[in-house]
Order: sequence, then structure tokens, then C-alpha cells
Amino acid sequence: MSNEEIKELVSQLGEPDYRAAQITKWVRSGISSFDDMNNIPKSLRNKLEEKCYIASVALVKKLVSKIDGTVKYLYRLSDGECIESVLMKYEHGYTVCVSTQVGCRMGCKFCASGLFGLTRNLTASEILAQIHFAAKDNGIRVSNVVMMGMGEPLDNFDNSIRFLELVGDKDGLGIGYRHISLSTSGLVPMIKKLAGYDLPITLSVSLHAPSDEIRDTIMPINKKWNIAELIEACKEYQKVTTRRISFEYALMDGINDTPECAKLLAVRLKGLMCHVNLIPANPVKENSFKKPDVSRIKRFKMLLEEQGVNATVRRTLGSDIDASCGQLRKKEGALRC
Ligand code: SAH
Ligand code: SF4
Repeated sequence: MSNEEIKELVSQLGEPDYRAAQITKWVRSGISSFDDMNNIPKSLRNKLEEKCYIASVALVKKLVSKIDGTVKYLYRLSDGECIESVLMKYEHGYTVCVSTQVGCRMGCKFCASGLFGLTRNLTASEILAQIHFAAKDNGIRVSNVVMMGMGEPLDNFDNSIRFLELVGDKDGLGIGYRHISLSTSGLVPMIKKLAGYDLPITLSVSLHAPSDEIRDTIMPINKKWNIAELIEACKEYQKVTTRRISFEYALMDGINDTPECAKLLAVRLKGLMCHVNLIPANPVKENSFKKPDVSRIKRFKMLLEEQGVNATVRRTLGSDIDASCGQLRKKEGALRC
């Protein structure tokens, strides 16, 4: 709930206004039970208990990378469904990668999250709870969020927007729009809708191929909205928000990593203020995609740069703990837990 909604609730319950600020503070601190609100009278706590619930995630499994300290969490939701989050430490602070859905219905061929389709959307509170848990568990302040875990945030549009509004609350996590990236596989109408909100978040677009011929085979969504339509939506988005767009490009050996692909990609991105994140594909047991060797990755990056496209190869974190999206939930056989 927003601060305004909590105020309204308190007034409906016939309680004095100052209780709203107290309750807001408690909820924003990441507590999981009304009984923890020790400056709220028992009678009001009971009323809250009757009318509301506090969304929380329960820890099922936690893995810490020996290589870089990345922490992977497998959580259980109140209905027994399981989701994953990752906490990463960078020089500029801590980043949490949150899930936005249980599963995903986009069916990208290289991704573990979509292997079993979509079970349900997460509520805004369930997305927030992932950050609260990681912050409390490590006694840290989380400074950045990437909506790059399980699920397609623009397929859960309203809850994603509500999450974005709540996560910046000064009494709570206080994570501003500029510290948030939202990643999408390319739901064109939703990118246009998001542009209308004019939020200074970073939009990351999972492109992964420079031609419809290739993209059609790895991302079914491309048959609905092709690359030309997607790039057009990105241009529209950029015109409104004036924000640089980030393109994700998972390099898959022999599929999308040829010199021709790099050259075509540069042509397609012409005229867009953007950055390309090259991600060596993470192997998933159920498919046969492999990451290219280092020389092919370097060549791809160099060819983009020669044509004036900014590109970085994303550092792989947590490679020893199945840190990429959907991998742990699948491995544990923990679709429900
Ligand atoms: N559904 C959104 C956000 C979650 S996926 C999206 O697709 O953008 C986050 C990122 O991980 C996306 O860029 C996705 O394409 C990428 N990804 C998924 N599986 C991967 C794999 N096996 N190797 C590398 N990147 C992968
Ligand atoms: Fe869904 Fe993103 Fe995975 Fe595609 S890459 S299946 S959109 S989570």
C-alpha cells in the first residue's frame, strides 16, 4: 500500500492519523508480522490482522558464491510457489535482481524461467519483499534493483508499476528510479505504454539477434512484434524519456555470434542512443545453446565498436551457484515447495 492508502485505512478504522505514519514505518522496515509493531496497541494490530496481510517471502535455500560473494535465494510464497532472487555486490553498492512472475509465458528457447510456462503474476509487495529479505539478511542497504529475474515485467504491467512507485519511498527502501533497470523481451505495446509514464528508469531490451530469421527461432515473441517494430518502439520510448536504452544480447555459439550478426546489429541500432550488454549465454541443461569462446566474444564486441556502438561484455557473477534466472528453481525441482 502507498502511504496515502495506509492513511485512508487508518481513518476508516477510526484511529488517529499518527498511527498511519507508525504503521507505514513498520511495513517499510520489512517486518513479516503485525505482532512486531510494538508501539501499536493490540486492538489495532488485531484489526489490521483481520483486514490486511504483510506479504513476505520464506527462505527455502540460499547459496553464496565462493568466487564473488553473489547470493542466490530460493523463496517460497504464501501459496507455496517458488521464486528466485540474486544479490550482487558491485563497487557502487548492492544490487538485487528480482523476479516479477512465477515462471514466464514468453517461451524463449535459451531461458530456464520459461520452461514450465507462467503460473502467476507476483504482487508489487511480493517483488518488494525479495529486496527487504536480502537487505535484512545481509544487514545492508540495497542501492540498485534490476527487474531481470524470473518473469516478464511488462507482462505484469500494473504490479511492476506499483512496485516502481513503492520501492522509492523515502520511509522504506528509498531506491530511486535512476537506480532501477527493467528488462523486457519486447512487448511493443507495453513499451509504448511505459513511455507514457516517463519514468527515469533504465529500459533494457532483450534483443539477442539482429535479424527476424534468427530471433524468430529463439524468441517466439518476435513472431508477434518483429525487430523493426521493437526498435521503432524503443525510438518512441527514447523520444519521450530521453533515456539511453540498454540492449541485452546473449551470445550463443554459432547462432548469433558471427561477424555478419555484429555488423547487422550495428546497422539496426543506428540512430538510437544505446548501449549493448553482451552476455555469454548461460548453459541450460534442457537446451543445446553454448557460450562462444572468448575470441568470438571479443571479435563481436570489436566489430560493434568499430561501427560506433557502445558495448560491454557483462561480467559473470555467481557462476558456481546457478545464479541465472530460473536455474535454481528448476534444479531443485522446487516449482512448488
Ligand atoms: N523477461 C525479461 C526479464 C527477465 S530475463 C527479459 O527477457 O528481458 C533477464 C535476462 O536474462 C534477459 O535478457 C534474458 O534474455 C536473459 N537470459 C535468460 N536466459 C539466459 C541464458 N541462459 N543465458 C544468458 N542470458 C539469459
Ligand atoms: Fe521470459 Fe525473459 Fe526468460 Fe524470455 S528470457 S522466457 S521473457 S524470463
